[in-house]
Amino acid sequence: MKPLRIAILGAGPIGIEAALYAQELGHDVFVLEKGRIGENLSRWGHVTLFSPFEMNRTALGLAALGAGGMDDLPSGEEALSGFEHLRRYLLPLARLPRLANLIFEDHRVVTVGKEGLLKGEKIADADRLEAPFRILVETAAGEKIFHADRVIDATGTYGNPRHMGAGGIPAPGERAAAEIISYDLDDPLERDRGRYAGRRTLLVGGGLSAATSALAWRTLASDDPSTSLLWVTRTEAELPYAPIPGDPLRRRAALVEEANRIAAARTGGIRHLPHRRVDSLRRDNGSWRVRVLGPAGSEELRVDRILANVGYRPDESLYSELQIHSCYASSGPMKLAAALLESAAGSDCLSQPATESETLQNPEPGFFILGAKSYGRNSAFLLRNGFDQIRGAFQLIEERPDLDLYAVRPGSAA
Ligand SMILES: Cc1cc2nc3c(=O)[nH]c(=O)nc-3n(C[C@H](O)[C@H](O)[C@H](O)COP(=O)(O)OP(=O)(O)OC[C@H]3O[C@@H](n4cnc5c(N)ncnc54)[C@H](O)[C@@H]3O)c2cc1C
Repeated sequence: MKPLRIAILGAGPIGIEAALYAQELGHDVFVLEKGRIGENLSRWGHVTLFSPFEMNRTALGLAALGAGGMDDLPSGEEALSGFEHLRRYLLPLARLPRLANLIFEDHRVVTVGKEGLLKGEKIADADRLEAPFRILVETAAGEKIFHADRVIDATGTYGNPRHMGAGGIPAPGERAAAEIISYDLDDPLERDRGRYAGRRTLLVGGGLSAATSALAWRTLASDDPSTSLLWVTRTEAELPYAPIPGDPLRRRAALVEEANRIAAARTGGIRHLPHRRVDSLRRDNGSWRVRVLGPAGSEELRVDRILANVGYRPDESLYSELQIHSCYASSGPMKLAAALLESAAGSDCLSQPATESETLQNPEPGFFILGAKSYGRNSAFLLRNGFDQIRGAFQLIEERPDLDLYAVRPGSAA
């Protein structure tokens, strides 16, 4: 096949692996990254991944690093923090001479269109593939247009948070309270300690990010007993998490168990308030009052800071001028969203179905949404699902259903 110009949007773990795959196939690939390589990973880098390293790297990545003379890699069963994964795997991969010059950092993709075609033209017509993609990029030196024959959007969702107000819309006062709300996975034990130690924080959310935060607060409150945390979840149960029976991801099982223990304890400066939703916020003499609604009516909580671990959503503005069919519930690409719903895997990321390449197709030919973004608001994405997707996307791009650069060859390192 003649080499194609392939643009990868985002230099996270999936963008970098996709670039390697494209390059191995001889395509003319480039990566556009709005910040630095692994930008989102480094924002939550203090958190330990619950999947072991062997699930978070590819055979191709290992082979490329081996060929580049890098043999000091983590062992398969090691549990790395986000920072360690970046330092010991992703950055060495991205900095290999074969990839380094193809990655453009500080290049923020604003949006993508088609050269000479509008959104409503040639509807779901394979002919749209003939017109190159036109990518508007913002850099410190100004705006630029890049052209590509195929585009892989691997821009993730972290950094595009949902709102914490009831019903998923901003609570009155939420936007005005921006200075005291963080939607990230903050690090209260080190990087962000000054913001939370000795203060009264409201934690909103009942997912694994909130569980991670609750565990960190337990340590912070024991170091500094003037620290306190009110933890609001929507769940009706007293314990926020239903453990997965026989969970093979030991770190995840331990996280859920500990978070439930914290919720049940009602001591150590942390109080869990189940079955609540955030109604409104108001400023009051230098602090903030948050009104929450629960089974017994409403109550007002006085807080200094808020940590809203309420999940993320994809930035659909990147492809709003393209023919992308998004799911009305998850905002992920429709075919994949439907496959995920049908699989009834729920929120257990280990039970997600293997990606059929067919589910990666959009009405817009040649445009693929991979990685965490492909799951939309569904947080069950694992890196290994993304590696399946890379394989599937290139089977479609190359029109070779059996193409698999991840198949372990005899004598290879994986
Ligand atoms: C706290 C946490 C723990 C997790 N733990 C695990 C785990 O243990 N195991 C596991 O398999 N998965 C885990 N995940 C899920 C998932 O694997 C990660 O979110 C992973 O980082 C997703 O990789 P990605 O490449 O799809 O997206 P990201 O890592 O989010 O990368 C997206 C990249 O795109 C860039 N970008 C965004 N917008 C633009 C734009 N407009 N223009 C250019 N670039 C842009 C970003 O700066 C970023 O570098 C975890 C997620 C979180 C948040």
